[in-house]
Amino acid sequence: MTSTNKYQVVIGLEVHAQLMTKSKLFCGDSTAFGAEPNTQVSPVSLAHPGTLPTMNKKAIELAVKLGLAMNCEIEQHNYFARKNYFYPDLPKGYQVSQHTAPVCKAGHLSIATTIGNKNVKLNRIHLEEDAGKSIHDAHEQYTCIDLNRAGVPLLEIVTEPDMHSAEEAFSFLTELRKLLRWLEVCDGNMEEGSMRCDANISVRRMGETELGKRVEVKNLNSIRNVKKAIEIETERLIGIVETGETVIQETRSFDADKNTTFSLRSKEEADDYRYFPEPDLPPFYISENYIKEISAALPILPAKIKSTYISEFGLSDYDASVICSDKEDTRFFEGLLQHTKDYKAAANWLIGPLKFYCNEHNISLASFPLNYEVIAELISLTQSGQVNFNNASTKVLPALIAEPGNTALQMAAILNLLQETDSGALEDWVNQVILSMPEKIKEYKSGKKGLLGLFAGEVKKLSKGKADMQLVNKLLAEKIN
Ligand code: ADP
Ligand code: MG
Repeated sequence: MTSTNKYQVVIGLEVHAQLMTKSKLFCGDSTAFGAEPNTQVSPVSLAHPGTLPTMNKKAIELAVKLGLAMNCEIEQHNYFARKNYFYPDLPKGYQVSQHTAPVCKAGHLSIATTIGNKNVKLNRIHLEEDAGKSIHDAHEQYTCIDLNRAGVPLLEIVTEPDMHSAEEAFSFLTELRKLLRWLEVCDGNMEEGSMRCDANISVRRMGETELGKRVEVKNLNSIRNVKKAIEIETERLIGIVETGETVIQETRSFDADKNTTFSLRSKEEADDYRYFPEPDLPPFYISENYIKEISAALPILPAKIKSTYISEFGLSDYDASVICSDKEDTRFFEGLLQHTKDYKAAANWLIGPLKFYCNEHNISLASFPLNYEVIAELISLTQSGQVNFNNASTKVLPALIAEPGNTALQMAAILNLLQETDSGALEDWVNQVILSMPEKIKEYKSGKKGLLGLFAGEVKKLSKGKADMQLVNKLLAEKIN
């Protein structure tokens, strides 16, 4: 038995998602990313004495929306608490949080794993405000503080210790980000810090039911890094247990450049936050009706759409996943399906040449320069064999974009790319080639099957490149055999 299957890794994630509200959680300051430091800081953000917070209603709506989409119970009686600690980027000296009484409880998120789908259980989702940011590299001697982010609304999504590999954690975060974007709750942008993740990791012997001592890894700024950090920590923890030492509960940081983790602090020094209810904010009540309203307005979720694409349109799991990872892509796909019933071909075109063009030109599908009709016509030309896929996607498509106003058929004709699909003409060429190469035909019949490519190439030459090669290959095989 190798050490990796002697042990089970246990992972629980804490994800901070910045809500897509225009203003902060308790005041009207903008939440926009990238502004000059300390330009989005009213006296409330700066915690000037005498200032009072007012609740942002949109933040509650977004919290309930995400909770419902993940099958959580929604807490109707809500209040905030103060989490007290001293840090230079925390002007009030406390963070206003729902840590002690979350707005959403339990629930789950379905993820794909190598052995099928799995529901990852959630512990809770709660609302809280963000702190400011310390900038260590802007000044030689001093650490600078930017308080633009102080007070920005966050949801903290906490899973149960329910994942058992780095891949599962990767899959969870990918699905979660997809859902956050789909619901327009959070833009999921990890580089800008609007989605952040801490990973809690422990190992135990296979079959053991008690949890091992955990480490918490912070500063993971991409989903890939979460996966890497878990892999590294799993190995390190198994190493510790294997040598008979004990794991100490601690907080570690991931260093992406060195691909290692290092200790930040041990839990013995764990802070006592002296939580108590926030006296400046009245409790808020979420009515049954409000929950129903939000529930009724929820968009159809990507997982549901994906299964429809698979069952009704016969798309592969992969193609359906790709199209459903973005709301705009599904909208485009469904628009296209108004004009073609070749579902699989439409999916191939979307995932292939259309997306490729968008990436090349840094545009989104919504601003793709051709309308659905023209694209559908191009798809139909390739499906009928009149233009081969390669020519259609690399020549006709760009030409149509460059010179709009032509139909796909006209453009294929202008470019001289219409293929000969008439079986009479094809048969003539095939017969000519067979008659002209009796020796090669003999070799082919005695087993050199690779020669088929040579014959096909000759037919292509004879037809000046216009023969539908799929038909040619079929005819060749029929005639020679
Ligand atoms: P804290 O608030 O101190 O971070 P929590 O109990 O809220 O602690 O747990 C935080 C996260 O750690 C959760 O996602 C939970 O699932 C995870 N977790 C708790 N214990 C373990 C463990 N032994 N191994 C792995 N993950 C754990
Ligand atoms: Mg924690």
